[in-house]
Formats: sequence, structure tokens, C-alpha cells
Amino acid sequence: MPEHTAPAVIFRPEDCVVTFQELPSREPAIPQLLLKVKQRVTADPTRRASPHVAEEVIASIHFYRVRRHLCRHNFRSAMLRMDHFRSDELRQLSTTVFDQHGLLNYEFIGDEWHKGSGCFGVEMDYGTLIYIEDLRVKKEYRNQGLGSWVLQHLFDSKYVGLHDFVVLMPGRTDDQGPESGVRLSLAQCHEFFDKTEAFFRKNGFRRIGRTDFMAFSNNPEHPSRKLAATDDVKAHSYKSSRDFADAQIDAVLDGFNLAGREFPLHFAIQFAGTTLPYIQLLPHERMPIDNLIVLLHSYKPAIIHSQDRGGYTPLHIAAQTMNRLAIETLLNFDIAGADSDLHRRDNDGGLTPLEMVEFGMRREAIIVDGVVKAYPEEGLRCAYMLRKAMGEDVGSEEEYLEFSKWGCTCDECGGGWFSPRFKYRMMCEADSLYHTMECLLPDSAPGVPLGPTMIRITPGLEYVPAHLHANIDTTFAEGFHAILWAIRVLCDTPDIRAIPTPELIFEILTRSTNRVAVSYFDRGGQVEFVLDYVLDLMIAQSPIGDATFDVDTMEGLVAEGKCLEWVTMPRCQNDLNFELARARFGMKPKKDLYKLQYIGA
Ligand SMILES: [Zn+2]
Repeated sequence: MPEHTAPAVIFRPEDCVVTFQELPSREPAIPQLLLKVKQRVTADPTRRASPHVAEEVIASIHFYRVRRHLCRHNFRSAMLRMDHFRSDELRQLSTTVFDQHGLLNYEFIGDEWHKGSGCFGVEMDYGTLIYIEDLRVKKEYRNQGLGSWVLQHLFDSKYVGLHDFVVLMPGRTDDQGPESGVRLSLAQCHEFFDKTEAFFRKNGFRRIGRTDFMAFSNNPEHPSRKLAATDDVKAHSYKSSRDFADAQIDAVLDGFNLAGREFPLHFAIQFAGTTLPYIQLLPHERMPIDNLIVLLHSYKPAIIHSQDRGGYTPLHIAAQTMNRLAIETLLNFDIAGADSDLHRRDNDGGLTPLEMVEFGMRREAIIVDGVVKAYPEEGLRCAYMLRKAMGEDVGSEEEYLEFSKWGCTCDECGGGWFSPRFKYRMMCEADSLYHTMECLLPDSAPGVPLGPTMIRITPGLEYVPAHLHANIDTTFAEGFHAILWAIRVLCDTPDIRAIPTPELIFEILTRSTNRVAVSYFDRGGQVEFVLDYVLDLMIAQSPIGDATFDVDTMEGLVAEGKCLEWVTMPRCQNDLNFELARARFGMKPKKDLYKLQYIGA
């Protein structure tokens, strides 16, 4: 890698032309989700020595525009389906950095360690992502600022708006990189990564959390733009200096096909997986995983805490594979204290064993076509065991299992899924719909069907299925309206058990013999129709929709000193989990749930 060598050709911006070429994605499900663009810098044709000289590309950027808002109900599964990518970086981005809706993963907002410098937060949920796959500068033009110049052209182009984010993984891009086919030593690799990171930092990029990804905001007021390059955090990537051969215990392992393996214990635990209580590596040889751990430990105690090439200890692997027996056995070897394996995160993922289980469960719980899966019991039992070993007060195992299976991260969700922010949003939207409907309620005589036109123009009534339309009169509409009020009141009740489920609302309204509600129920009306109406508005105005509730309404109110509880309320992974709420309310998944109004492209 030549460094500080004089450039062979002088770069003169005035002699260059920048062009952008769009290559639409062939993704069949959501064709507009990804737009691939090639940005190229060529010499100005009018200034070429001869018009016959072939066009020379002296620098290029290949990038994707990822329009998350087009598929926010299944962002991750759409990204994961795109297997025609040359690299898997975008897939990695869609799992390690973003959640199923394309919103920033919870740990970058709620976890002190994972958020790194904290310069990127919830604002990253909005705007288009521009993912730079590749940045190249021709060798003879390097070290003259051409790389920065071409980046600046991208930032100034129509492809990057004020609130968009340019994301990349340094080292994958090629500026100042090694020639293709050249193999670098480990030390050279580290030097190369440090150098590319320094280049992108100089151009305003900062790290997202502690991941390998960096991002740039076009907004000069964004916190990342105010963070000094020297204050940016380093990636957590594990840099091994261990003697790998040290972990080999050949003699013991003959017969288990483990001989010669660098990390026999890691391998055995990985192999045993989640459910097998033993490992069976040969047809007639099996050994319970706990016995094998004890056996290996008796030969070489240090193997219990050994780190594999990625920096993971056997406890990490046992957690990742959700093998309870292996975790229990490993925890019995006096692992304790702050520096124990329970707290280690000096590995490639920067994860503790507990995070390996929990992040793993969260990734598995992808919602496909509206079907919501609870976290697996095996994983929850592992998480319980690890939390207990870490000294947390986790209560009884069965209670923990019941509360944690819906992925709550705030510890304040009703039923483990109805988060304080979800509840607040629901209260506000139900209140707003209540008042809208109140002004437009028909005043025809009771018992007289409203007819199709009135049903269409009365807000909410389109949520009543067609076969019941003949039953809709003024009283029916008032019953619908009364349920909106009941939802609003329940969401305004601080009690964690106050969840506006169809059962609870039905019980409250019929017990209180609310006249219009009883009549509504008698004629086939259901609480679910009203919940459907409220949930649709919640989604439409959330960051998954056009974000008007979060950005316009709440930011405005907070600026006026109102609704300040919104700011201090804990954040939870369930805050925008509308599919989960639908499922918990006992409602069917809705295919066209998100075909509402979205913010522009
Ligand atoms: Zn929660």
C-alpha cells in the first residue's frame, strides 16, 4: 500500500465532471425500496487532450437509497429476502443496527454501553438511508482530497436530504485500500481499517453505537456533526492475541471427533445446540454436555474461560445456542464478580452472554405477515438463569417467563407488552378520534338505518363490516363513540393492568349498563372495530407512518411546556409494536395495515 507517495496525476476539480446513474432494484416484492446509484467522476470531455481518448473514471461511489418508509411493516424481512446482493452488508445493517420496522435497534437508545457516543438516536428513524457500498479513487489520483471531494458531491446531490443519513462500513469501501488480490497481515489490516476510519471521520462520519457502521448526517445541527473526531468511540471488534493452539486437548478427545479442534469446548456446545442434552459426534458415542464440560475442565481448568477467535467464551456460546444445561454447568464453576464471563463483552459482537440470548430471541421474533411469535421458552429460561447469576432481582422463574415473552425492555409494560408510550399514544389518538366523531355524529331518529352515504361520511363507521351496515342507526354510532371514550379513559388510568382489551371494555360498559353500548353489542357491534380504527390512526401518525404525532403534535406540545411526561417516559422495544398489540387484543393480522399516507420519498 503506497503511502505519502507523490500522486502521478494532479487532480483539478475544474477539469472533472460528476454524473449519477440510477439502476432500479430488481427486488420483486417492493421494487422502489432500493435504488442503486453509481456516482462517477470523469475528466471533462471538452478538456480532454483528444475527443478520441476514452472516458476515464477517476473516482466512483456506488450507493443504495433505502426508502424504509415503503415497507416499514416488514423492513427486515424484505431486506433479508434480497439475496441478490453482492455483499451481505445491507442485511447486516438491517439486523444489527435496525429493527423489523427499520427503526434504530433499542440498545442504541436505551443501553448506556451499546449507544457508544450516543450521537445517533431516535432521529435516525426518519429520513432515507443512503448506504455506500463502495468508494474508489484511482490509484494515481490518491492523496489529493479527491475522495473527500466526491463525497461532498454526494452530500450536495438530490440523493441526500437534510434529514437523511449516509451509512457505511469503513474498510469495505475501497478508498486508499489495498490492490485487489493483495493479502494483508493482521497488523496491516488494523492499520488499513484505522486509516479508512480516520478518512471518514474527517468527512463528518461518526460511529453508530459501537458497531462497525458509521453514519453521516447532512444536518449541520445534528449531534454527530458537533462531536469532535477524537471523541468518537472505537469499534468494539475483538482483537485476538491469544495462542490458539493452547486450547487443544487432543488426547482426551479421541473418539469424540474433537481432537485437533482449536476450541473443543466451544465446538461441543455449539454442536449440542439448544435441545440436545448430550453431544453425539459419532454414531455410538454420546456424552451428556454437562459431563463433557466437567471432563474437559478436569484436564484443563482454563478452558472454561477460554475465548475463541471471535472472543467468545463457552458461556457465550451456551447462551447463544440457548443450552440451559451447558449454562448451568458452566455457572457452577465459580464464575462470579464483575470481571467474570457474565460481564465480558470483549468479543466481535461486543455482547455479554445475556445479550447473546436476548438479542438472538429478538431477531428470531421477526413478525412475518402479521403473525407474532413470543420469545422461545428455552431462551427465556436461559436469560432468567443468567440474570439471576448476575445478581438481578428477577422474581420467580414462571413470573419472569410470563412477563418477558413479549420482549419488553422497559420493565413497565402492562402484561409484558402494553408499554407506557404505546398507552399514551393510544390515549391521545382515541381522544382525538372521539372529538372528531362527536362533531360529525348523525342526529337522525333512533331505529332508522343511516344508509351507505351517512356511514361513509361518519368517521369510524367504515370499520364496521359491511354485513352489519343494515344495523347501523344513530344509537349504534353512539355506541361506537362510547367505546372510543372507554379506550381513552382506560389508557389514562395509571394502573398497569388498565389495558383496553375487548373483554375489559365489554365488561365495563355492560356492567355499567351503558345504554348505547349495550345496544351496539346487541346488534353485532364489537370493541375490535373501534380498536382497529384507533390502531390505524396510531400507526399512520407514528414513525412507521408519517410521524406527525411524534414530530408535529408531541414536539409542539412539549415545546409549549405541556405533556412533559412524554419526554421522561421510559422507552421500550414495544413502543411501536402494533402487530403485537393487535395480536394481544385478539385481533387478526391485517394485510393492508400500512397502506396509509406516508411522508414523501
Ligand atoms: Zn416495556
